[in-house]
Amino acid sequence: MSKRPTIAEHLKASGVSRRNFVQLCGMLIATAPVGLSLTSKKSVLQVAAAIGKIKRPSVIWLHFQDCTGCTETLLRTSAPDVAHLILDVISLDYHETLMAASGVQAEAALRSAIAENEGKFVLVVEGSIPMKEDGNYMQLGSKPAVQVLREVAAKSAAVIAIGSCASWGGVPSADPNPTGAVGVDSIITDKPVVNLPGCPPNPYNLLGVVLEYVTMGKLPALDDQGRPKFAYERVIHENCPRRAHFDAGRFATAFGDEGHRKGWCLYKLGCKGPVTHAACATRHFNEIADCWPIGAGIPCVGCTEKDVVWKLGTFETVPIHLATPPDNYPPIYSPIGGVSIGAAALVGAVAGGLGGATYVYSQRFTSSQEAGAERIEAGQAEKQLDKKSDRKEV
Ligand code: SF4
Repeated sequence: MSKRPTIAEHLKASGVSRRNFVQLCGMLIATAPVGLSLTSKKSVLQVAAAIGKIKRPSVIWLHFQDCTGCTETLLRTSAPDVAHLILDVISLDYHETLMAASGVQAEAALRSAIAENEGKFVLVVEGSIPMKEDGNYMQLGSKPAVQVLREVAAKSAAVIAIGSCASWGGVPSADPNPTGAVGVDSIITDKPVVNLPGCPPNPYNLLGVVLEYVTMGKLPALDDQGRPKFAYERVIHENCPRRAHFDAGRFATAFGDEGHRKGWCLYKLGCKGPVTHAACATRHFNEIADCWPIGAGIPCVGCTEKDVVWKLGTFETVPIHLATPPDNYPPIYSPIGGVSIGAAALVGAVAGGLGGATYVYSQRFTSSQEAGAERIEAGQAEKQLDKKSDRKEV
């Protein structure tokens, strides 16, 4: 472990350009502008410098009752370079989907990864754990799944439950829950467990939690369900691009009707956005604007909420309560102290190749007039970065 290179050293040895690394940091800031101590630094270059100094965090990734969708969302980014970059920043020392080994060799690889990083690795769990008949619905290396989880978690530093299945049971736990599927924190109670529900979750939330932990030595603030507040504090309805239609009373009432074709609010089609805590409205998938269910005209099903997705009918409407004005209204006063408008513009500039970052910032921090001024500032910042990139290495 002591010989593990820093992230900067590894990126340099792998031939990753400074520009691409800074772009990734820009996307991380855009994903978690507040809530992560790591991203409270003033500029994306300062964040990149802080991340570059730390040793690549060891991650061991276990699969249980899952569809591998959480892994897919990490790997199937619109730009393959982004997936490669994430895998360069973390050291994914064991992952059953990505490794070539199987059987005895896979078991040996897991033992070796644990021994080399005992007490220091982050355990990522994908999938629910079957508890009926003492976990015998699933075995790995002739051991019940729950035993494998307990043994590996005991030697980890912290556990991240990625996806709704690992967070609270997900699809396998739907009634009648034939395997007795539960989430990780029902079993592991003596280690910190962070839940990242979603079907699938946004991979930048995983990257943010791992980097916060290894850079700042602590986990981000969590809500009462173990979800990081930076990603799950708000309900989708607060930032939904269709919110203006909701406020104006314009609703789609059937798939394909005039309101649906015009992009009106999906509330009357059963949208669960008003009660679903997630950041999908501002952090779309695959770095593509509008790549998320509501963006594609499909009502939110509430996949991050245990008491919503499998408990309420698809077309059942939810009560409206606790809704506050959306962030994308031009602010009269911005209480966001850690990230200035100028910093936001710089992030937008350096993440230019990752259009999602610019999109997120334009949603959260700018009015249309400010956006025009920022586009000019962003262009200037990008030219500066081009010059610096030519001169400096990570
Ligand atoms: S009800 Fe759904 S589609 Fe309508 S504004 Fe809220 S989150 Fe968006």
